Formats: sequence, structure tokens, C-alpha cells
Amino acid sequence: MNTDPYRKHLQLCQKLGIRYLPSEPIPPTVSPVQPTSQKQAMESPSFKSEILAPVDYSKLKVTWNPNQTEIGKKLLEFYGQICECQKCSLGASRKNFVFGSGNPQTEIMFVGEAPGEEEDNQGLPFVGRAGQLLTKIIESVGLWKRNEVFICNILKCRPPFNRQPQPSEVEACFPYIHHQIQLIQPKMIVALGLTAAAALLKTKSTLGKLRNQWHDYAGIPLRVTYHPAALLRVDAYKKEVWDDMKIIRDKFMTMTNKK
Ligand code: SF4
Repeated sequence: MNTDPYRKHLQLCQKLGIRYLPSEPIPPTVSPVQPTSQKQAMESPSFKSEILAPVDYSKLKVTWNPNQTEIGKKLLEFYGQICECQKCSLGASRKNFVFGSGNPQTEIMFVGEAPGEEEDNQGLPFVGRAGQLLTKIIESVGLWKRNEVFICNILKCRPPFNRQPQPSEVEACFPYIHHQIQLIQPKMIVALGLTAAAALLKTKSTLGKLRNQWHDYAGIPLRVTYHPAALLRVDAYKKEVWDDMKIIRDKFMTMTNKK
């Protein structure tokens, strides 16, 4: 039998000044705090509201129609799942999470290092000067328009002052690019610059050594070339990138029997 209502009633009587009923010590009404298990913590309302808050999809920078294809829909769902990420310190300093842009049904993905200032402002990858150059590089091949490929970065948040990503940041963010590649399943990947190449290929080799050969990322052919930002600094790299793009074009045409 639950005696709480009787005790509460007696307490109320006491407060009202009724003295002829026998009084008893009132037990505490608040249970002592129990240590919280991890499972309980995850099920607590505060954890849910922090981590599982409904995503405002209207705020996401989506450049594809998610209703058009299953891949597009899954990619948008994934974007919604990770867009509030705070796994590393860059989450606190970013203006915008930069997921990626382009066509989820693409044949080719271009992967850079991290968002810069303009990308952070707009929430879209490669939209500054380097991005304009990347558009020219992609379209110079003659096979794709920019909106027909998918472009993203290893890191989804901008490192302050465009500094080099730290290994711990790359490690924290890497599962996201891996899952993007798994969802999109392109026929080919182009790694733009050493940071992207080193992260994808798990290597400490130099860009010079990595550039002149084909690599494999989970069964997908991968080629390494210079980051477009490097071309803005060193004009001579333009010819080398053009050479890389011709190799990419030839391999792609052979793979898809377009030659
Ligand atoms: S850089 Fe990646 S791991 Fe770090 S907070 Fe941004 S999304 Fe999360």
C-alpha cells in the first residue's frame, strides 16, 4: 500500500495547525540521487534534445534535388545527421558546416582539404578564388560541368586562419568523407592536395610521389593532383594539373568505354 498520500495529508494538517493527530517524522519526498549509467544518460531528455534535435532542413545548403534519387535522399539524411557535429574544436569556431555540393549521382568526386573563409561564410565548398579555378579545371576536361560532379572536403569545418588541419581533426572528421564516398560510389576520386591524399590513402608520402600513379580507395581508382589554391601561388603547377586531368580523362573514357 502506498502511504505517501496519508503522510502528505498529515503534513498538510500540521501546516494548518491541527495538533491533535499524532505526528510522525515526514520521510523525504525526494529520492537520493542515484549514479547515472551511460545508458540512462543517453535516454535522458536533455541528451535527446542536444543530440537528436530535429534538423531544420531549410537551413542546409543542398545543391541537389533529394526527391529525385535514392542516393540524393540518403545523402541529405546523412547531412542532417552530422550537421551539428562538435567532435573536434572546429565545431565551435565554424560559421557554417560545409557538407559538399554537386550531383550525388556523379561519376567523379573531387575531395579537398577543408573550407576556407568564403566557404565558411556560404556553407558551400570551393566557392572562393580557388573554387573558381577548380570549376575551370573540371570543365576543361570536356566531360563534366561543375554541377555534374560532387565536390567536398576532408574536414567539414574551417580551421581558424586557414591553418593546416591537425591530425586529430582529420581523424575525427574522416568517417564523414568515407561515408559520403560509400553513399555516392563514384567511378573515380580526385584528391586535391596532400592533406586530402594523405587522409584518404593513409600515407605520409609526398605529393610528388603520390601524383604520378593510380591509387585505390575502397575499390575506386583515385588520382592525386595539386590543390587549386596552390595554382594561385605557383603558376607552373597549372600545366602539371592539366597533365593530371588528361590522364584522368583518358582513364575515365577507357573505363566507361567512351573511347
Ligand atoms: S571538423 Fe569534422 S569532426 Fe570537427 S566539428 Fe567539424 S564536422 Fe565535426
